[in-house]
Amino acid sequence: MKNPLAPEWLEVPNDVNELDPRIWPKSVARNESGQLTVGKVSVSDLATGYGTPLYVLDQDDFEARLLRVNRALGEAARSIGASCKVYYAGKVLLTTDVVRLVREAGLNLDVASGGELAVALAGGMPPERIGLHGNNKSLVEIGRAVAAGVGTIVVDSEIEIERIASIAGAQGRVQNVRLRVNTGVHAHTHEYLATAREDQKFGVAIADVPNLVAKIRADSHLNFLGLHSHIGSQIFVVDGFIAAVERLLWLHKDLLQFGPVPELNLGGGFGIAYTRADRPLPIEDLAARICRAVQQECEKLQIPVPDLAFEPGRVIAGPAMFTLYNVGTVKDVQVSDGAAPATRRYLSVDGGMSDNARPALYEADYSATLASRKSIALPALSRVVGKHCESGDIVVRADYLPNDVSPNDLIAVPATGAYCFSLSSNYNYLTRPAMVAVKGDSVQLMVRAETESDLLSRDMGFKRGEN
Ligand SMILES: *Cc1c(COP(=O)(O)O)cnc(C)c1O
Repeated sequence: MKNPLAPEWLEVPNDVNELDPRIWPKSVARNESGQLTVGKVSVSDLATGYGTPLYVLDQDDFEARLLRVNRALGEAARSIGASCKVYYAGKVLLTTDVVRLVREAGLNLDVASGGELAVALAGGMPPERIGLHGNNKSLVEIGRAVAAGVGTIVVDSEIEIERIASIAGAQGRVQNVRLRVNTGVHAHTHEYLATAREDQKFGVAIADVPNLVAKIRADSHLNFLGLHSHIGSQIFVVDGFIAAVERLLWLHKDLLQFGPVPELNLGGGFGIAYTRADRPLPIEDLAARICRAVQQECEKLQIPVPDLAFEPGRVIAGPAMFTLYNVGTVKDVQVSDGAAPATRRYLSVDGGMSDNARPALYEADYSATLASRKSIALPALSRVVGKHCESGDIVVRADYLPNDVSPNDLIAVPATGAYCFSLSSNYNYLTRPAMVAVKGDSVQLMVRAETESDLLSRDMGFKRGEN
């Protein structure tokens, strides 16, 4: 029976052990004894070998997603006569192994800081396939990017035109640049805001674009590739993209009067399913609809279709990973507000907002399953919480888990591949978890778990022995 504390979208599952393929990585299943496996490896072997919490990447799924998203966007662009560059958005999940997989799948890579650039280069990404973003790139970051020979730098403000030009000039180089436009379309999950759409920090105003592009074109150390826009993230509907396409192509046409505009970069933002209630459009459909809008708008404006670029992140990495936790305490909390008193079960795990900040940051919803065994117990509305000193330290706000989950059970939370590892912290001096990639029966350690000596390694008082 439905618990009155459950959110409206959450249904009582017929079978608490079932794994919905829309939210679990492809190679995750239950073995004969009911334990979760990824590839041919059981989660208890992973927990024993690498500890918990643990980020577990389904490598085959990640590789397949890289290829699928690249192909979907490429084919949609080709169908309207455009070529297509796909940049994996590195801020989502970046390690040198990830860089290698992105490179081998043939995608390009976006970075948003000197640190991300360092990982991209260490992972062997050819510099010409790297794009640099950011609304406040330091002179050192720009200098390193230009010296490395990055393919493109996205200009985010007028001040940066001069900065990039003088650095490129000093190094005797010509730098490809795009100009990020604040289109006023700010797409949230299901709608784009009607008010304050321009009120955010990224990009330049539409009205300023012609002058800024003229400035870029006038500088012999810069080569203008085209306009860029990224309207938001975790987007399920196509309207925001289409509104952005219309505004950008109108500007694009204006710019064509005074020189070439070979490309249009439409950013990322494609949404994924975190719970059974999320219904994202397949990437193939989104890509086709966006490209059709580009084609129609170009016909209307009577301009040639530009080459396209996209920057998907979450849709590639998000669904390919899950986080494994160990249950520490189980607590039933009576909630008496509202009509009928009800009970919510709190399952405390050995991580929390330090390995997944998204629920605390965005009230993001996740799902969970009992991973170390299957259960014949009835479903109980449960909240999976972390071990941090914050009541907002929630991992899964609401899901039905078996009534008999107990200390030392393993719980797995799917769709943690995007913005979890990359947003992780040391709050409460928790050591950050390891990350492994599983492929068939092989387990590769991608990032080792942090140790307490890592935590103390930057503490100079400790190092001086004055504590
Ligand atoms: C974050 C970001 C992306 C990726 O967004 P997703 O929602 O993960 O696809 C792409 N482009 C830019 C400029 C970004 O800042």
